[in-house]
Amino acid sequence: LWDVWSDVIPDANLILRLAPESFAVDPHPPEKLLARRARAIGPSLSISYAEKLKMVRGQGPWLIDHTGRRYLDAVNNITHVGHCHPHVVAAIARQAARLNTNTRYLSELILDFSERLTATLPRDLRVAYFVNSGTEANELALRIARTAIGKKSTVVLDWAYHGNSGGMVDVSPYKFKRKGGYPQPDFVEIADFPDPYRGTHRGMSEASGRAYAGDVARCLEAVRAKTGTPAAAFIAESISGVGGQVVYPDGYLKAAYAHVRAAGGVCIADEVQCGFGRVGAAFWGFELQGVVPDIVVMGKPIGNGHPLAAVVTTPDLAARFANGMEYFNSFGGNPVSMAVGMAVLDVIEGEGLQARALETGDYMLARFGDMAARHPLIGDVRGRGLFSGVELVRDRATLEPATAEAGWIVNHIRRQGVLASTDGPFDNVLKFKPPMVFGRAEADILIDALEVAFADLAAGGG
Ligand code: PLP
Repeated sequence: LWDVWSDVIPDANLILRLAPESFAVDPHPPEKLLARRARAIGPSLSISYAEKLKMVRGQGPWLIDHTGRRYLDAVNNITHVGHCHPHVVAAIARQAARLNTNTRYLSELILDFSERLTATLPRDLRVAYFVNSGTEANELALRIARTAIGKKSTVVLDWAYHGNSGGMVDVSPYKFKRKGGYPQPDFVEIADFPDPYRGTHRGMSEASGRAYAGDVARCLEAVRAKTGTPAAAFIAESISGVGGQVVYPDGYLKAAYAHVRAAGGVCIADEVQCGFGRVGAAFWGFELQGVVPDIVVMGKPIGNGHPLAAVVTTPDLAARFANGMEYFNSFGGNPVSMAVGMAVLDVIEGEGLQARALETGDYMLARFGDMAARHPLIGDVRGRGLFSGVELVRDRATLEPATAEAGWIVNHIRRQGVLASTDGPFDNVLKFKPPMVFGRAEADILIDALEVAFADLAAGGG
């Protein structure tokens, strides 16, 4: 097989050096072949091992691969209302059969969806722009802020990820410091990552939140000292995703936003992962921190897999951004996307998915807590609703990350037919962000698989 594929891989040695682990650990020959083929086709397909399964169908919380095997999807935070939800599928088909065009033309749908979407947000946030990905949405959010303030400097959180364009990698320490490997841009200041478990200030108290926010103030001062002018923006997720499913200490964003506004900057909430009801107790992640951002960025679940993302801001910032210039985007806000967005909201509301996220999420967190009492490898359990993480450590005192063990657990439950993944600075956090149709029955399947994996690991692996 290697001979066959080496024909189409331009530099087989290089590829082996870049991704040797896929060759060493993959127990399924067909997937191994697919993984090789994916790498042959291009780097955009060279994503994580677990994602290299070849999926052919989706239904609710289930995915079915090319061999007919069913997997419970405990990690896909894009398809909020479940894979191939019939109401969403019908909306796409209906609108595609009627009209799809671009934003050169106004449609009832764009107006209806703007109204419906902004109704989920605090009153001042009522101007919506539609784009096609979270990256584009964050690009636009920063452009709005920078145009309005007339400056470029931006304060970001360590470990943040906001997208994969050049502009977004520049404001994503996760990328440029770690996975992209280039120096910090001079217009970016990195604030301490507000991790209450292994960070500088431990615990969820307001004192810890205020202490972390103090580092945002330090960054704002650094910008002023360097440039003589204020920073344009502070951009942060309301709960961190790639940072390891980290819920910030109480009052963190409130204090950080206060510093930013006092310094004349704009507060941007990246809700690409944590928005749309996933956190259960609120529709938006920022609500859990009691703040109202100046710009909200949304993506992933808004289209349930269909490419749709949005930026919502205040009339004041929108006016300062417009400044005689029209914002245009070929596909953003097209009628099919708008119909999808409406259908997704129909399902979230009609099926009570936010309440379900809260109920199932609380149940999962309680079960993870119970596991932590029995498995010393579990150092921390955290999250809100169906946005949760289980951090594995070799030693609860030193917090030595159990990275290999976390990967082992993910592979083990995958073999049992459950998909999860890892995240965080050390890739030692098991992350769970299932479709919001997840109920107790699905949570039990996931947790049973985890119990088997932890027991096997404690018995010496294998
Ligand atoms: N912001 C956050 C918090 C994300 O997690 C992601 C993607 O993972 C993005 C932005 C970028 O979104 P997209 O991949 O749709 O461009």
